[in-house]
Amino acid sequence: MAVQKRRQSSARRDSRRAQWMASVKHATVGSCPNCGEPKAPHRVCMKCGWYNGQKVVEVAEAKEAE
Ligand SMILES: [Zn+2]
Repeated sequence: MAVQKRRQSSARRDSRRAQWMASVKHATVGSCPNCGEPKAPHRVCMKCGWYNGQKVVEVAEAKEAE
């Protein structure tokens, strides 16, 4: 196992965490070609269940109607 030589300074630690938060806030968002809803790339659309031009997941329609 790798063991650290020195304790990391709080500034270094905090700047790393700040970078991580930025990547979460500005996550890549694409749009579904079927319904146009925003969705993550390479993920099934949560709205209509489409992926790669076909329906792959059945989405509960009752939840949307409420
Ligand atoms: Zn969709």
